[in-house]
Amino acid sequence: MKYVDEFRQPEKAEALRREIAKLSQQLGKHIKIMEVCGGHTHSIFKYGIEEILPDSIELIHGPGCPVCVMPKGRIDDAIAISQNPNIIFTTFGDAMRVPGSQTSLLQARATGADIRMVYSPLDSLQIARDNPDREIVFFALGFETTAPSTALTILQAADENIPNFSMFSNHVLVIPALQALLENPDLQLDGFIGPGHVSMVIGTDPYQFISQKYHKPIVVSGFEPLDIFQSIWMLLQQLIENRCEVENQYNRLVENAGNSVSLEAMNKVFAVRENFDWRGLGEIPNSGLKIRDEYAQFDAEVKYTIPNVKVADHKACQCGEILKGVLKPWQCKVFGTACTPETPIGTCMVSSEGACAAYYKYGRLSTIAKKTMVEKPKFTIA
Ligand code: SF4
Repeated sequence: MKYVDEFRQPEKAEALRREIAKLSQQLGKHIKIMEVCGGHTHSIFKYGIEEILPDSIELIHGPGCPVCVMPKGRIDDAIAISQNPNIIFTTFGDAMRVPGSQTSLLQARATGADIRMVYSPLDSLQIARDNPDREIVFFALGFETTAPSTALTILQAADENIPNFSMFSNHVLVIPALQALLENPDLQLDGFIGPGHVSMVIGTDPYQFISQKYHKPIVVSGFEPLDIFQSIWMLLQQLIENRCEVENQYNRLVENAGNSVSLEAMNKVFAVRENFDWRGLGEIPNSGLKIRDEYAQFDAEVKYTIPNVKVADHKACQCGEILKGVLKPWQCKVFGTACTPETPIGTCMVSSEGACAAYYKYGRLSTIAKKTMVEKPKFTIA
């Protein structure tokens, strides 16, 4: 298949759905599959995939939305940097609305900080070239998907010797997060839909521990409906055949060894932090990336003083439970009432990859939510 429409053909989706239904009947038990990546969560809600799967297959929405896992303290740090009148603070649009402890970057901009939305770190570097009298800071965040572009931008800045440019690095790593989830006794999963974009960079080899140590199957998947249906089908096949393997459904883009150019750039620029605090998941060892000492002149954490204070989440917010797959979005007490995409209380309502935002946009009237509401009448849907 070559064009995107071919991955959305209804008759093929229906054929796969029927095969999945047969396999799930053959398995004869309730199974829980976590889609790790927020991009998959978005597609699942957008195309109503969960709605037409057999009731015995439950999709758990994992922590793979980079904005959702950003802790309040790091947002406060970003806002603190942006308050310096000589700084132009640049960020992806999603991060603008993430609530910190008091305010968001969007609100900080409204009160006078020079905060600009960019589409790439290279846009930020261009702003630095165009404004030699100002200091430019880029809010670098995301998984291994975006870390290579940050690394390459720092290498470019070093090549050109641009002195007024730096990054506030908040990049996180998917493997330690998966390990933390697999160690969580509350979360009994039967398999994983592996993240497609991250895997384009790291490959499929790093997931071997999931099958070898934790005896769970994982299928790295593309993002179109047929990709996701096929990945679920492949996972069920593994379960029926008692196999726990790393399989690659997204082999049109993902190679087992990953992308060597991206990995090389990341290794050159970044070192692994001993610990990084994830919203809702707490501190996870070796799960964040910091800029290496050799590139300290481009490290905003070295150049500027930041508060670096841990801040607890809003007490009504249940993003932690959503990110761990323990609750569904509509089961949060403030979903769709106090917390909406316009007035997010938690991070999962901000990005389109966040489970709450995706569910708010596409799934509020789904039969799954309605069923759960009958069982749990205290939950409110706007
Ligand atoms: S509805 Fe809002 S507060 Fe509740 S879990 Fe989702 S994002 Fe967090």
